[in-house]
Amino acid sequence: MDSLADSQRRDAVMICADRYRKHSYGSNHPLGIPRVSLMLDFLRAYPALDDDEIVLSRLASDDELLTFHTPDYVQALRDAERVGQVATASRERHKLGTAENPFFPGFFTTPATATGGSIQAAEQVAAGRIAFSPAGGMHHAMPDQAQGFCFFNDVSLAVMRLRAEGLRVLYLDIDAHHGDGVEYACRNDPGVLTFSLHMDTGYAYPFKGGEWTQWGVNSNALNVPLPKATHDEEYWYAFSTLWPRVLAAFKPDAVVLQAGTDILAPDPLGKLNISTQLFLRVVSRVLADCPRHANGVPRLAVLGGGGYHPIMLARCWAGVWAVLSGRELPVDIPQAAADVLRGAAWDQDEDEPYFQSLFLQRLDQPTDGPIRDDLVRTVESLCAQHPLLRSVQ
Ligand code: ZN
Repeated sequence: MDSLADSQRRDAVMICADRYRKHSYGSNHPLGIPRVSLMLDFLRAYPALDDDEIVLSRLASDDELLTFHTPDYVQALRDAERVGQVATASRERHKLGTAENPFFPGFFTTPATATGGSIQAAEQVAAGRIAFSPAGGMHHAMPDQAQGFCFFNDVSLAVMRLRAEGLRVLYLDIDAHHGDGVEYACRNDPGVLTFSLHMDTGYAYPFKGGEWTQWGVNSNALNVPLPKATHDEEYWYAFSTLWPRVLAAFKPDAVVLQAGTDILAPDPLGKLNISTQLFLRVVSRVLADCPRHANGVPRLAVLGGGGYHPIMLARCWAGVWAVLSGRELPVDIPQAAADVLRGAAWDQDEDEPYFQSLFLQRLDQPTDGPIRDDLVRTVESLCAQHPLLRSVQ
């Protein structure tokens, strides 16, 4: 048990599976790093995760996968796992077995388990618990194609599961990249609002879409492109200006948060400059403002997402879990937990100036600077012109 009194704890569950201990994607891929397993080991060593808070992921059923994906696509992943490789026709049609979306053992089972976990997160939220599904958040996957390291779009299926309960769902995507697959999946459902803050696609993947002017025919997409090196003050300005307006205008019943950590400053694929503190400040604000179940528990499902610096990811998601479960996690990392991080199989750049501090404290230096005019113009234009936000001036 950790040191906190139970009265401060919230009813939250961590949804995970042992399967994530086996590395997927291969050693030359940005996702060929320890992620969920490292975070879990780090939390256990702190200690800040009890066995009775863990829910084991189940496989998503075919019926669930087919709610968004095509039968041929689901079959192609299953066939590749059985045969041990991707057929040429599948590579071309479905973008499977490419450098971006490489084949690995468990090619169907691993993403189908992550997807089952995110659907379970939705079910836990509907039942009155907060849920964290860190293996989920695969927000780029399309119905008939893998995209951007994502095979099954667990996010969309979790949102749809909450919609099946009759709940209006606000989807907030703070991953460094535009949540294009989820925006596409929800484009025709006015009961969902997709709100994504991301690196401007003029300089970052997926290199199209996500402009602030793109809100779709149902006005149910809200996109905030961010300039390179966006820092804490800029991010907080954009988020905290828009967030209360979004809540007031959309009036959600539940929130699904995609919590990719590639916005953090040292991330090798992200080009933003966000600190762990700011990340957790956003999550805390989302939790505080979240609509509540009849039992008083916030209706919040948090899913994983990008994040290619395993140490930053483990520290940050451990902090997310502490926020969700109502723990005061010491900022100084206990020796046993630091040893977990130091033991991570990862090619670490020990010359980086922040390297040693990664293992001493779970937070890093806040970032600041002037708020650039372009970003102010984007946020003010959204407030004035987005069909949903115009109503709450
Ligand atoms: Zn990302």
